[in-house]
Amino acid sequence: MYIIKILNIYYTRDTILMETTTSFKDLNLIPQLERALTKQGYTHPTPIQEKSIPGLLQGHDLIGIAQTGTGKTAAFTLPILQNMTQKGPRTIKTLVLTPTRELAAQIGESFAAYGEFLSFKHTVIFGGVGQGNQVHALSKGVDIVIATPGRLLDLMNQGKVNLNNIEFFVLDEADRMLDMGFINDIKKVIIKLPKKRQSLFFSATMSPEISKLAKSLLTNPIHVEVTPQATTVELIKQQIFFIDQSSKEQLLLELLRPKHLTRVLVFTRTKHRANKVALFLDKNGISSDAIHGNKSQNARTKAITDFKSGETKVLVATDIAARGIDIDNISHVINFELPNEPESYVHRIGRTARAGTDGTAYSFCSAEERDYLRNIEKLIKQTIEVTNHKFHSETAKNATGSAAKPAPKGKRTFSRTARSNNKPKQSSNNKPKHGFRR
Ligand code: AMP
Repeated sequence: MYIIKILNIYYTRDTILMETTTSFKDLNLIPQLERALTKQGYTHPTPIQEKSIPGLLQGHDLIGIAQTGTGKTAAFTLPILQNMTQKGPRTIKTLVLTPTRELAAQIGESFAAYGEFLSFKHTVIFGGVGQGNQVHALSKGVDIVIATPGRLLDLMNQGKVNLNNIEFFVLDEADRMLDMGFINDIKKVIIKLPKKRQSLFFSATMSPEISKLAKSLLTNPIHVEVTPQATTVELIKQQIFFIDQSSKEQLLLELLRPKHLTRVLVFTRTKHRANKVALFLDKNGISSDAIHGNKSQNARTKAITDFKSGETKVLVATDIAARGIDIDNISHVINFELPNEPESYVHRIGRTARAGTDGTAYSFCSAEERDYLRNIEKLIKQTIEVTNHKFHSETAKNATGSAAKPAPKGKRTFSRTARSNNKPKQSSNNKPKHGFRR
């Protein structure tokens, strides 16, 4: 069996290979949950499940430093399902807040799968679609709500959601939430929750701001960490291409032509660039689609379905849109633009190793991204191999000082292709974060 090690967790072709020798039988789960786990084919908890479930069953708060792919959803879903009380009329007893619709839907599926032999009901609430069905589901009565903050707040303001009986509150992917400007919405939701509750907080990274938010939410939490920060993804082939911004599209095209690049995830920093790159590839005969927060729910679902089925070969995504989406068999990750947060590099390239095949990550680095690369290499504690290619740029490779950073806002130059549109467009990541709502 081919095994790849990522961030201390071992992945095989389809699933996570347990490092733990504990069996689910040792965790004192109720028979209904054991049955559901057997049905899923899970016999051993993943490390985060092994470390979290006992304390959560005892009622402790929890702070978990873990990213998607570690089994964190079951780590909170199982103990919540076991400890939720079922008496009197149906009320919302569990609230899970997540940054994206896709993640909300995936968590909803987990509650359905693990709760199959229990009688709890759940519903998923997110923006970008009409609220009618969601309001209808709420009015019929549910025990569990999985929501993105914006829509939840809208429905709370309309008096359609009552959070007075919450026993369990989960804040998932807190770092993404903050990135996306959800902090004020989250605070408004938290104020409405009963003081007496069990709170669970998950984040892939821990910054002072995240830590402050966690402290304000949790009481004597258990601390569980399964993805040490600053750990690189091992055994993924990583290559750097120094290049001028204006040649990136041509290089991408040349790299994508060979047949062995079967399912490729391309990352950009902005939504605008994601659209542009997808359009360029499509025009040049490479089936591709873009996925980002400005796309409608239907468009996003279709893009993911087509990518999974092989209908489209390339999915161009922003970090936020790609996070948490479970897509297997990605043969290559291509960083068309390097991320400004070095941790995102680790998350991005980790997507390819999920396939269980040789993961490959290509990164394009232009002069103004040179410092981003330096920060990435500092974080992963290694120098990434430089590839020789016909568009190689020594200027990019040797850039230092202000040339190695993006120009300050307002002084940005535009690439040849952007200029050919006749109007210099403001890049969408210059927009205020608070305008970005899901
Ligand atoms: P998550 O990190 O929650 O997104 O889970 C990642 C994947 O691992 C999902 O496809 C889960 O269904 C799967 N998974 C979760 N727990 C286990 C387990 N104990 N054994 C095998 N697979 C699991």
